[in-house]
Amino acid sequence: MGEAVHKVVILGSGPAGLTAAIYAARANLAPLVVEGGDVSSKTDLPGGQLMLTTEVENFPGFPEGIMGPELMERFRKQAERFGAQFVPGRAVSANVRERPFTLELHDTMQDTRTTLRCHALIVATGASAKYLGIEPERRLLGHGVTTCATCDGAFFRGKQVVVVGGGDSAMEEANFLTRYASKVYVVHRREGFRASKIMLERAQNNPKVEFKLNRTVKDIVGGERYLDAVVLEGTGPDAGKEERLEIGPAGGLFVAIGHSPNGEIFAGQLDMHDTGYLKTLDGTSRTSVEGVFAGGDIHDSHYRQAITASGAGCKAAIDAERWLEAQGL
Ligand code: NAP
Repeated sequence: MGEAVHKVVILGSGPAGLTAAIYAARANLAPLVVEGGDVSSKTDLPGGQLMLTTEVENFPGFPEGIMGPELMERFRKQAERFGAQFVPGRAVSANVRERPFTLELHDTMQDTRTTLRCHALIVATGASAKYLGIEPERRLLGHGVTTCATCDGAFFRGKQVVVVGGGDSAMEEANFLTRYASKVYVVHRREGFRASKIMLERAQNNPKVEFKLNRTVKDIVGGERYLDAVVLEGTGPDAGKEERLEIGPAGGLFVAIGHSPNGEIFAGQLDMHDTGYLKTLDGTSRTSVEGVFAGGDIHDSHYRQAITASGAGCKAAIDAERWLEAQGL
């Protein structure tokens, strides 16, 4: 292959990828950022999960708050200012068994495929929240429907909200939301829980939390930019029962049914936890393959905040820069 070998390619344009791009660009590494996502999608845009939120109030430096998409636009401009280049599309396959590494990209808009080679690779492909898969959910994302209580809870002060899920995330979100909401319903599809006992008990003992078990959310009732009720459908022993749960005016639906890390193309090549999150070594961004670094939600199932992803992207760029230098590249 005759094409140029990039010093650093960064996969992903969320807070981790773009912070890595700022640092790598300022270090004169001319990073190439593969944007990821799909510009024609509503729930998987380049720029990551912040593209799906409205106002971000907890990112330091913005005392008045900032809209998620605008924050990502600013990250991007800052990376471009120092010479980072961007390519649309996502990596659909990777070979990190041999150096230089090879990536195959697919641009969904043009439906074209290209191959890239690089000496160092920063994986910042993030994680995607799982969705219920009902139609109004997508339309109301950021307008009543959300997947992040830490990000959006404060918008539901004095309101009623529904949290869907029976894992630790759902319990944590339910408890957290009681700080703002007047009432929190937890809708879970069975009677058993995946959540740890302590987190479950905390929710069960919270007087503002009411459980709706053996139920799934079948439909959402509301307008173009708000929701007032959800329709619950019985499962298991309650199969066939239907119930309309009023949470208006302008209540919230928090979908907390888990996240999936976007690391499939590295399966069998980079060490991962059983959950698919990448393993990194000794508090660094180094993965199990030398020259491949990870930052953000792709390796962090715990904190999942823009600011922690950003910090991890910074670490990945610094680690990559030092590794390239040590290699004489
Ligand atoms: P999770 O443990 O996989 O739980 C997902 C929950 O959503 C399950 O109860 C599942 O129901 C339900 N669910 C999945 N798909 C659904 C669907 N289509 N419709 C309705 N319900 C659906 O995910 P998580 O709660 O995000 O936790 C992920 C990991 O992070 C866990 O290891 C957890 O311990 C950890 N975590 C820890 C903390 C903490 O310690 N502070 C906080 C958050 C998360 P079923 O049970 O019926 O499958």
